[in-house]
Amino acid sequence: MNTQFFAAWIEEIAAVVSAQRDHLTQLDAAIGDADHGANLDRGFAAAREALAAASPATPGALLVLVGSTLIRKVGGASGPLYGTAFREMGKQFGDRPEVDLAELGTALDAALAGVRRLGAAAEGDKTMVDALAPAARALAQAVRDGLAAGEALGAAAAAAEEGAKATVPLQARKGRASYLGPRSVGHEDPGAASSALIIGALKAAGSR
Ligand code: ADP
Ligand code: MG
Repeated sequence: MNTQFFAAWIEEIAAVVSAQRDHLTQLDAAIGDADHGANLDRGFAAAREALAAASPATPGALLVLVGSTLIRKVGGASGPLYGTAFREMGKQFGDRPEVDLAELGTALDAALAGVRRLGAAAEGDKTMVDALAPAARALAQAVRDGLAAGEALGAAAAAAEEGAKATVPLQARKGRASYLGPRSVGHEDPGAASSALIIGALKAAGSR
């Protein structure tokens, strides 16, 4: 996977976040403040523009630029968290011109570690971690099983999707939704839903 692959990933994310903007906002309206769709749409549109302007030469430089842009443009809780995730992935890649599936798995682990360090959420707290952690585990397992890239990214996407859906019966223990206490039960977490879109876009970028 080269710089072009990661540029395609960001394009895919920007497209799916834009298409799902209202859905993400509705999820956030139920247990938050109804800005998650708008926040991410603004952020990934800005990331796409930043990439077009700077044409970063390596996957690492590209992802660090995306992360910095998200931190500047997204705001809310999710901006710094997603910004950190992309920056950590980029730092993990260093200046390698291409990365393999195992390196992508390690970078996803680094992204998750960054999110956990900043947000202090554990799995089951009804946050983006509930989608990102199973995705990272699925990708690591796929690498150990020697799956081809398409299948491995498919497995990660399915795990993220399942993790997001599994947030519905949970009570939020982190972020704005936690202020609702038991009233946060019965709704999918918006950040887990957007994480599933982001991981799903990896699969879409791979099959371009
Ligand atoms: P805000 O809550 O500030 O309005 P967003 O609506 O953009 O920000 O993002 C909300 C999402 O951020 C939540 O659905 C949740 O997934 C995620 N989130 C909030 N706090 C944390 C945290 N401490 N750790 C991980 N994820 C979090
Ligand atoms: Mg919000």
